[in-house]
Amino acid sequence: MPDVAVTIVGGGIVGCAVADAAARAGRSVVLLEQEQAVGRGTTSRNSEVAHGGMYYPTGSLKARFCVEGRHLLKAFSAEAGLGWRECGKLIVAVEADEIPALQQLHALGLANGVEDLQLLEPQEVSRLEPGVRAAAALISPRTAVCDAEGLARGLARRAAAHGAQVLCGARVTALARDGVAWRVTVAADSRREGWSHTSGAVVNAAGLYADQVAALAGIDVEARGWRQVLVRGSYFRIAPRHRGRVGRLVYPLPPTDGSTLGAHLCLDLGEGLRLGPDFAAPLPPGSDPALIAWAVDAARADAFHQDAVRFLPWLERDDLTPDMSGMRPKLAAHGFRDFVADRGEGELAGLVNLVGIDSPGLTASMALARHVVDELMAA
Ligand SMILES: Cc1cc2nc3c(=O)[nH]c(=O)nc-3n(C[C@H](O)[C@H](O)[C@H](O)COP(=O)(O)OP(=O)(O)OC[C@H]3O[C@@H](n4cnc5c(N)ncnc54)[C@H](O)[C@@H]3O)c2cc1C
Repeated sequence: MPDVAVTIVGGGIVGCAVADAAARAGRSVVLLEQEQAVGRGTTSRNSEVAHGGMYYPTGSLKARFCVEGRHLLKAFSAEAGLGWRECGKLIVAVEADEIPALQQLHALGLANGVEDLQLLEPQEVSRLEPGVRAAAALISPRTAVCDAEGLARGLARRAAAHGAQVLCGARVTALARDGVAWRVTVAADSRREGWSHTSGAVVNAAGLYADQVAALAGIDVEARGWRQVLVRGSYFRIAPRHRGRVGRLVYPLPPTDGSTLGAHLCLDLGEGLRLGPDFAAPLPPGSDPALIAWAVDAARADAFHQDAVRFLPWLERDDLTPDMSGMRPKLAAHGFRDFVADRGEGELAGLVNLVGIDSPGLTASMALARHVVDELMAA
C-alpha cells in the first residue's frame, strides 16, 4: 500500500482545486507547494477574470472547462464568502471593419454555450458605457471578476477540512517509479527536514514549472511538445480619479493568432482600473521561472496608452503607472494550443500531467480538477 493515494505537486489554483476534488472524493491527499503559502504563483499575477468562454475552439478543453469552471468557481466563491463581481464584459470593434470578427466571436461563443451573449449597436454601447468608444460590441453579462488567491486558499482549506494535508515550503525534487506507486522526494527547507513518501497517483500542477516536473518523472518534454514558453504580460494602473468611469471589463478584439486576448481594461473587486496584460517577447528557452524579475518596464506606458485610447478616449498618458506582471506558461508563443491534461500509461501509470495551463486556467480550474479526479485518475 502506498503511503498516500494522491500527491499533488503545486498549490496554485489548479493544484488546490485538484486537492479539494480528490479529498472530497474520499482519497487521501497530500498537496505540496514550494512557496510558503498557496496561490502565490501565476494565480496571484493575472486579471482575475472569470471568463465567459467565447474565445476557444468549440470542443477544446479550454472551451469546455471555461464555461463549466466559471459556474463552479461562482458557487464556491459564494460558499466561501469570497468576492465575485458579475460586472460583465464588452468586447469592442473600435472600427467598422472589425465588426465581422466580432460576429465570428459571437458565433463561437454561442457554439461554446456561453450564456446571454448579445451584439450591441454603438448607441447601446454609449448608453451602457458612455466612457467607451465602439462601432459595435459583444456583451458577455456573465463574465465576472473574482479573488483568485482567496479562491486558492479557500479550496486548500476545504481540501484540508476533508482530510488533505496541505504542506507549504515543500519543493518536490524527484519523482520515481516505486513498484506500482510513485516515490515523491521533497527537499528540506529552513523549517523542516526533507522526506520521501510513496503515492498511488501524482498530479503535476506545477504551473510555470510543469515541464520541469514532468521531466523529473523521466518524460522527454521536448519530444512531447510540452516545453513551456514563458511570455510576460504587464499591467498599468489607471489613476484613481477615473474609478467608476467604466463599470464593465472592456476588451479589444483579440489578435487573430490566438496567442492572447489583447490588453484590456480590467476592474478589480474594489473597482480600481488597470490596463493589461500586454504580450511581450517570450523569455529565452530554458529560462528558470525562479529567476524571473517581475518589475514592469515603465517605458511600456506609451504603447499601452496608444492601444487603449482607441476605445477609452478619455485616457491620458499620465494616468498610467506601472503595476505588476505575470508570466504565461504557453506551449507555443503564437497560435492556439489547448491545455495538456495527460494520464500516463505503462511506466507512467498513475501520473497526471497538467501542462500549458495558461488563460483561462483560473476560470477552468475547478472543472479541470473534476476531470482529473473523475476521468484521469479513475481506476
Ligand atoms: C498575465 C496573465 C493574466 C491572466 N488572466 C487570467 C484571467 O483573467 N482569467 C483566467 O481564467 N486565467 C488567467 N490567466 C491564467 C491563470 O492565471 C493561470 O492559468 C492559472 O493561475 C494557473 O494556475 P496554476 O495552479 O496552474 O499555476 P500557479 O498558480 O503558477 O501554481 C503552480 C504552483 O506550483 C508550485 N510549484 C512549482 N514547482 C513545484 C515543485 N517542484 N514542488 C512544489 N511546488 C511547486 C509553484 O510554486 C506554484 O505555486 C492569466 C495568466 C497570466 C500570466
